[in-house]
Amino acid sequence: MANPEKFDIIIVGAGVVGVASAYYLQKNNPDKSILLIDRLPAAGQANTAMSAAAVRNMFASSTNQLLTDTTIKFIEHIQSELDHDLMFEKTGYLWLLSEKKFKHDSVQMWMQRMKNSSIHYQVYEKDELKSMIPGLNVDFEGDEEAELMNLEQVDYGLFGADCGVLDPTKLVEFYLEEFKTMSDVKPMFGVNVTGLTLVADPPLDLPGEPHVWQNKRVGGVKTTEGDFKADTVVLTTGTWANELLDPVGIDSRTKAKKRQLFVVHAEDKEPLMDILFSRGFNDLGCIPFTILPSAGVYFRPQLQEKGFWVGCGDKFGRAYHYVQQDSYDNGESSYYENSIYPVLSKYFPGFQDSRPVNSWGGGYCYSPDAIPLVYKTNGIIAANGPSGSGIMKADAMARIADALYRGETHAELFGGKKMEANALSLQERKVEIESVII
Ligand SMILES: Cc1cc2nc3c(=O)[nH]c(=O)nc-3n(C[C@H](O)[C@H](O)[C@H](O)COP(=O)(O)OP(=O)(O)OC[C@H]3O[C@@H](n4cnc5c(N)ncnc54)[C@H](O)[C@@H]3O)c2cc1C
Repeated sequence: MANPEKFDIIIVGAGVVGVASAYYLQKNNPDKSILLIDRLPAAGQANTAMSAAAVRNMFASSTNQLLTDTTIKFIEHIQSELDHDLMFEKTGYLWLLSEKKFKHDSVQMWMQRMKNSSIHYQVYEKDELKSMIPGLNVDFEGDEEAELMNLEQVDYGLFGADCGVLDPTKLVEFYLEEFKTMSDVKPMFGVNVTGLTLVADPPLDLPGEPHVWQNKRVGGVKTTEGDFKADTVVLTTGTWANELLDPVGIDSRTKAKKRQLFVVHAEDKEPLMDILFSRGFNDLGCIPFTILPSAGVYFRPQLQEKGFWVGCGDKFGRAYHYVQQDSYDNGESSYYENSIYPVLSKYFPGFQDSRPVNSWGGGYCYSPDAIPLVYKTNGIIAANGPSGSGIMKADAMARIADALYRGETHAELFGGKKMEANALSLQERKVEIESVII
């Protein structure tokens, strides 16, 4: 390398979005030198590792449908044709809904939009659900506690068979290893980027430049290992987007919220094993990723551990705030015991008396419309704001970031589908508001 401190591209953040971006940028720009930096000791250790890693194409907005459907198809392609096991299992997704919710305009519109986009789904009625999931309590008639807790009964199930779960570390490994085979530049881990460097464009070598009357752009990064220059800095810093963008006067329009998962083992507990191995939904003979009708509680089946990862997407009352802590002290057992468990055990009495054996917490990076932001401005390309679904959108987001780098008007997503490269930008945003957020 002629000048080790200057690169064509520096990517800050090696979560799933960062490593996927590194892969496409290097693949489509083979002569460019690309430095990937993360402050953690390895790739994919922040929110990517904390995720439930479930993937669904069942969104209400056509933008999220496209981003996720193409990403999921690429995930399938990696596993089946590129022979890289991601532990992708098509468990399906199951929304349990009361009649009131099911008949609500928003759900009807959601189904209509899925139909328009050829996203496959199936509706189950209460009796069918009851026979497929014997451990499900569908009726709260006369249950005063359930009434007090505002729990809606189960009347319908909305099921998507093309959805599933995977191992996010294996997905990160795929992109990173492929990137490393193409790149001459070794990624840097354990290196914190403390700021972005502003340069005058063109430079006039004046003391103190860039001045207010000069054109300026980001020309590199300051790090705990020294300063590095780059023509383009790609920011895939997820929930920490504002740390680097605020100081240069860019409003990332994203905010972070803490989200947790609790591990409940089913082995040796017959009622839980019966729930886990509810048949009829998929070839695995297990219950799908399931979202309860009330309080935002959901669970992911975990077949390797024979258990469940339980979470909650509560909306109002949870602060926009997230600080990364030690992965395992973050679950807050009282949140499970007082908030999640009472709801879960009402719908699935088999969970009664079961307690988590493990828990962790991470952050969702929300955008105002729950659609990612991918844009190019002043020497920066930023890709963040996937709003709790970055694993299932990463491939498409990375392809868009690469198209922006190459100055293309359209990004080609997996399967040849096209998307306007500027559609997810701050200024020329062309998206619908997403309503199906977990
Ligand atoms: C509990 C939970 C459940 C979830 N479930 C799902 C799910 O089922 N499906 C799904 O699709 N998504 C899910 N998500 C969301 C998903 O995890 C994220 O959307 C995704 O991981 C975002 O990837 P990312 O690369 O943007 O961010 P991250 O994985 O957080 O990566 C950002 C990286 O940037 C690095 N970084 C930040 N600032 C700096 C700096 N200044 N210097 C150096 N490095 C820096 C960080 O160290 C980090 O490694 C879940 C999230 C949580 C917390």
